Amino acid sequence: MAIPAPILERDDVFHTVPPMKMDDAFARVNQLERRDAAALAGLQGDEFELQFYQDDATKMNRYEWGVVREANGINPDCILVSGGPGGVAFGPFLEAGLIPLAHSHPYHTATAASTRAIAGGAVAWNNINGTEPAQNMIERLKIFPSAGDAYFCSQNDLATHRVETPYVVVFNPANIRYIANPDAHPAFAAAPRLTFQINNARALPTAAPHTRIDLTAYAGTVAFWVKHDIDVSGHGGAGIVL
Ligand SMILES: [Zn+2]
Repeated sequence: MAIPAPILERDDVFHTVPPMKMDDAFARVNQLERRDAAALAGLQGDEFELQFYQDDATKMNRYEWGVVREANGINPDCILVSGGPGGVAFGPFLEAGLIPLAHSHPYHTATAASTRAIAGGAVAWNNINGTEPAQNMIERLKIFPSAGDAYFCSQNDLATHRVETPYVVVFNPANIRYIANPDAHPAFAAAPRLTFQINNARALPTAAPHTRIDLTAYAGTVAFWVKHDIDVSGHGGAGIVL
């Protein structure tokens, strides 16, 4: 098994020779979030598409990126898929029997000037994860996976799917965990990035789209929070109720 040749020839697909594995693919998505040109090093794919991202570093995290793996194999081959500002079109890959492993949420929206910046630079983790009585729903909507992400996982029977965010996980002097914009402080450039993993997504038997997921949050590769059996209503850009 390998990634089929017609998939490798798509304009939105980037691969390496020999094929990249999961660790490399995830590292490249992380580098794309950091606008690190190493993300594009050695990639095979449409040269005009590659040039588009190389011309202006902000383009690297103005659009969503996906990681797709072959279905078989304990160490499967992976590809990077470039998406638009609102998502990655995983349909053709699912139809080809491939598995979407991850996608990124870009820091920028449509242009370099517009961002999904957290107001004030940072928000306390417990003020978006359902712990504190005062919950900042606007920032949660920017930071957490969307209801559509959960719905996508259940509809496609994805056992696990990662959502890479552009934000960093930091602590204030009182050792309270914050989620911050990567450019909120010079030291934050090296801070671990916030990643979510959606596990065990399953559709609930209701008329309207309704999904239940387990969700884990990571600072870099270190899991620091998990919540099981989160009910998610709707799809699209709707938020998750915690
Ligand atoms: Zn998403």
